[in-house]
Amino acid sequence: MAIKTYNDYFSRIKKMRKNLYIAGEKVTRDDERLSGQLRIIRETYDRANDPEWEDLCTATSHLTGEKINRFTHIHQSVDDLLKKQRMTRLLCHRVGGCIMRCMGIDVMNALSVVTYEMDQFLGTDTNQNFLKYLRYWQDNDICANCAQTDTKGDRLKRPHEQVDPDLYLRIVESRPDGIVVRGAKIDNTTAPVSDEIIAIPTRFMTDKDNDYAVAFAIPADWEGVKMLVRPTRMHKVKYGQAPGAEMGDAESFTIFDDVFVPRERVFMDGKADPRQTPFAGFLALLFAHYHRHSYTGCKPAVSEVLASAAALVAEYNGIERTSHVRDKLCHMITTAELVFAAGQMSAYRAEKSSSGTWIPDEILTNAGRKLAGEEIYNEFKIVADLAGGLCATLPFEEEFFSKETGKLANKYLMRNPKISAENQHRCFRGIEGMIVSEVAGVMQVAGLHGGGSPQMEVITMMGRYDLEPLKNIAKYLFGIEKELPKYERPTVTPRKMLERFREMYGKA
Ligand SMILES: Cc1cc2nc3c(=O)[nH]c(=O)nc-3n(C[C@H](O)[C@H](O)[C@H](O)COP(=O)(O)OP(=O)(O)OC[C@H]3O[C@@H](n4cnc5c(N)ncnc54)[C@H](O)[C@@H]3O)c2cc1C
Repeated sequence: MAIKTYNDYFSRIKKMRKNLYIAGEKVTRDDERLSGQLRIIRETYDRANDPEWEDLCTATSHLTGEKINRFTHIHQSVDDLLKKQRMTRLLCHRVGGCIMRCMGIDVMNALSVVTYEMDQFLGTDTNQNFLKYLRYWQDNDICANCAQTDTKGDRLKRPHEQVDPDLYLRIVESRPDGIVVRGAKIDNTTAPVSDEIIAIPTRFMTDKDNDYAVAFAIPADWEGVKMLVRPTRMHKVKYGQAPGAEMGDAESFTIFDDVFVPRERVFMDGKADPRQTPFAGFLALLFAHYHRHSYTGCKPAVSEVLASAAALVAEYNGIERTSHVRDKLCHMITTAELVFAAGQMSAYRAEKSSSGTWIPDEILTNAGRKLAGEEIYNEFKIVADLAGGLCATLPFEEEFFSKETGKLANKYLMRNPKISAENQHRCFRGIEGMIVSEVAGVMQVAGLHGGGSPQMEVITMMGRYDLEPLKNIAKYLFGIEKELPKYERPTVTPRKMLERFREMYGKA
C-alpha cells in the first residue's frame, strides 16, 4: 500500500547515515531534540491512515490510480487545490501551527510543470526523470524538504558576481552520469527528519549564471551532505501533559560539500545545457507560488490558533465581553478568513497547465500570503496583550505541584472564579509555549519570511498585475476617456513566462 504509517517512516529515517550536527554533536534522526518536529510530521501519517480524515488527507495518484497520501499528490483539479488548502488548515489546528510537510509537495508540483514545459521547448527528457522519481515518492509516502534559499552573500549581486562563487549552490562538474554540486541552502524546515532533499534555484538566473541553474533530489543522508541543525521545542511539561506542549521545529543549514547527484535525479542542469538556465527562474517562482498557496491554508490556522488562545485567556481573565477584546479578536478572525478566502478563490480561478497540473491564480495567492505576513507580529501582540504579563513570567511547573508552594501558587493564580486553578494554569502554560518559547520566536519569523520575504510578494504581484486597464477607471471618471471598457481582472498564472519561452525557443 502506498500510504505508509508513521512507524514505516520513522524506521526508515532512524537508519539513515549520521550527518546531523547539533551543538557540537553528530547525531541520528532519533535524537530527543528532534522529537517536537517528529511529533508534527507524525500527524501527516496518522491522519492519512484515519478513516475520518480520508477524504482530505488522501488522494488518488494520477500515475498509478492508487490511494496516496495527499502530501505526495500532484494537483489534478480545482478540488485538489481546495482540499490541500483545507487539509493544511485543519492539520495545523491539531499541531498548534505549521504542519511542516508542505515544502516537499509544493516543490513536486512546481517540478511537474517546469520539467514538462522545459522538455516541450528544448526536447530534453527531464520530465521522465521527474515522473520516475514521483512514482518512488508516492509509493513510499516520502517526506521531503525543498531547499531553495541560498546563502546569497551580497544581496545586490547575482550568483556569478559574488566574491565567493559558492554562495549560491552551483554545479562544479557535469558529466554523463550526473552532476557534482557545491554550496549551501539555509532555513531548511523539516530537512533533519526528511527522507529527501529537493534543491531548486532561489531566483532568476542570467546567461552568466548557468552553473547555478540546478535542480535535483537526493536522500537527506547522501554522501557529502552535512546538516547543521537547530531544533526548537515548546517548553516541556512534566505534570500537565498537553498535545500543544509536544510540538517543536527543526531547521537545517544544509551544506553540499561536492555532492554527486546521479543523472536520473537531476531535473535541471544549466551547466551542461545553458538553454535550461531561463527555466531556473520559472521553477523558483512556481515553487514560491505553490508554497504561498499552502500558506493560505496554514496561516489562517495560525491566526485561529492564536485567536483561540486570545479568546480563552480573555474569558479566564474575565474580560471577554469588553469592547477592546472583541475588536482585537474580530481583527484576528478577519485576517484568518480573508487569507483563507484568497487561497480558496485563487484555487477556483486556477488554470490547468499543459502538464495536467493545476496552478492557482497568482494575484490572489500572493495577496493572501502578503496579508498573512503583515499581520503575524500583530497577532502575537494581541495574545500577549490580552493574556497580561504572566505568560512571560509564569513560575516553573514544579512550584504549582510542590507541597510547599503548590497551594499558594494555585490560590494566587486565580482570576475568573468560574475557572479552576488547574485550567488557569494550563491556559497560561500553553500561552507561554505558544508565544514566549524559542519555537514561538521561530514561528514569528516563519510567518514573515516563509515563502519569501514580504517584498517578494509585492514584486510578484506588481510584476503580474496589469495597471493599464485599472487606470482606465480613473480616466473615465475624470473625463480623460469617454468610454469605460468593462474591466475584470483576468486569472493570472505564469502564462506570460511561457510566452517568453515561446519567443525564445519557438512554438512548443
Ligand atoms: C522558519 C523559516 C523556515 C523556512 N523554511 C524554508 C525551507 O524549508 N526552504 C527554503 O528554501 N527556505 C526556507 N525559508 C527561507 C525563506 O524563504 C527566506 O527566509 C526568505 O525567502 C527570505 O530570504 P532571506 O532570509 O535570505 O532574506 P533576504 O532575502 O536577505 O531578505 C532580507 C531583507 O533584504 C531585502 N532584500 C533582499 N534582496 C534585496 C535586493 N536585491 N534589493 C533590495 N532589498 C533586498 C529583503 O526584502 C528583506 O527586507 C524559511 C525561513 C524561515 C524563517
